[in-house]
Amino acid sequence: MISVVVPFYNEEDNVVPLYEEICESVNPLDNQFEIIFVDDGSTDATYRMMADLSKKDQRLRIIKFRSNFGQSAALKAGFDNAKGEYVITLDADLQNDPHDIPAMIDKIMTEDYDVVCGWRFNRRDTGSKKVFSKFANFLRNQLTSEQIHDSGSTFRIYKKECTEDLELYGELHRYIPAMLSWKGYKIGEIKTNHRERLHGKTKYNYKRLIKGFLDLIVITFWQKYSLRPIHIFGGLGMVFSVLGGLITTYLVFIRLVYGTGLADRPLFTAGIFSMIIGIQFFTLGILADVMVKIYYGQNGRKNYLVERNIG
Ligand code: UDP
Ligand code: MG
Repeated sequence: MISVVVPFYNEEDNVVPLYEEICESVNPLDNQFEIIFVDDGSTDATYRMMADLSKKDQRLRIIKFRSNFGQSAALKAGFDNAKGEYVITLDADLQNDPHDIPAMIDKIMTEDYDVVCGWRFNRRDTGSKKVFSKFANFLRNQLTSEQIHDSGSTFRIYKKECTEDLELYGELHRYIPAMLSWKGYKIGEIKTNHRERLHGKTKYNYKRLIKGFLDLIVITFWQKYSLRPIHIFGGLGMVFSVLGGLITTYLVFIRLVYGTGLADRPLFTAGIFSMIIGIQFFTLGILADVMVKIYYGQNGRKNYLVERNIG
C-alpha cells in the first residue's frame, strides 16, 4: 500500500480539484492507495469539503487538527497515521502536479532510494520568492552538506521507515532531506512539474522564514555537536582562557618589572573578562556533556539506527 499525505490550511477551493487529480493519477496504478488529508486548523470550508469527499471514497482518511499547528506538525500527523509501505507528500495548493506520482513511485522502487525528492525545475512563483528560495537552498546546502537541487520542495516519496524516524516540529519539514541523510538514508531526486497557485493564498511570510532559519541553526548544531557539546564550548573556553592567561602574564610582568600601574589599563579588564568567559564556557560545556550522557542513559535512547538485522 502507498499513502498520499497532504497538509491543508485554508485551502477550500483546492480540496476537490486536488482530490480529483490525485485519483486520476493513482487509479490506473496496480498499487493499493490510501489518501490522508490533514486539516491544519483551517477556518474556512476546507474540512467540510474533505468530509463530503470521504463519504464517497473509503480510501480517503481525514485528520483534523484542533488548531493551526503548522505544516511540519501536519506532515508528522500524516506520517504517524500512514499505513502504506511508501508515503508520498505534496502541497494542497495544486502547485505540485499529482501526475508526477507514478514516476516518483517508479524511481523509488527501481533505484532503491529511501526517499526521492521532487525538484521544481520550472518554478512557478513570484520573482522574489524564487530568488529567496534559491538563496535558502544554497544556505541549507552549505550548512547541512546536502547535495540536492531543491531541498525546499515538500513533494517527495519516502520509504515508511524514514518517516517513522523523523522528529518534526517547528519548521523542520524544510530540512527533512538533510536530517535523513545525516542518519544514513539514501536520497534521490526527480524533476517534478511546478504550477502556479490558482486558488487561495500562500501561507508563508517573513515570520515563518525567520523561525525556519533559527531551526536550521539548531539542527545543524545538534547534528555536529549533540553528542559532545564540550567540543565547541570547550574549544571556545580554551581560546578565552589562553587569551586571558597571556594578557594577565603580560600585565603581571610589566607591573613587577617596570612598576606600571594597572588600574587604568583597558587590557586589565579584557584579561579578567577573558578568563571569566573561558571558565564559564568550559563549565557550560561539561554541563552540556553531562546532559547528553543522561539523555542517552535513559532507557531506549539510542544514538544509532540498525538498517537490517539478520536472524
Ligand atoms: N500549510 C499547512 N499549515 C500551515 C501553513 C501551510 O498545512 O500552517 C500547508 C498549505 O495548505 C499547503 C502547504 O502547507 O498545502 C504549503 O503551503 P503554501 O502553499 O502556502 O507554501 P508555498 O508553496 O507558498 O511555499
Ligand atoms: Mg504553495
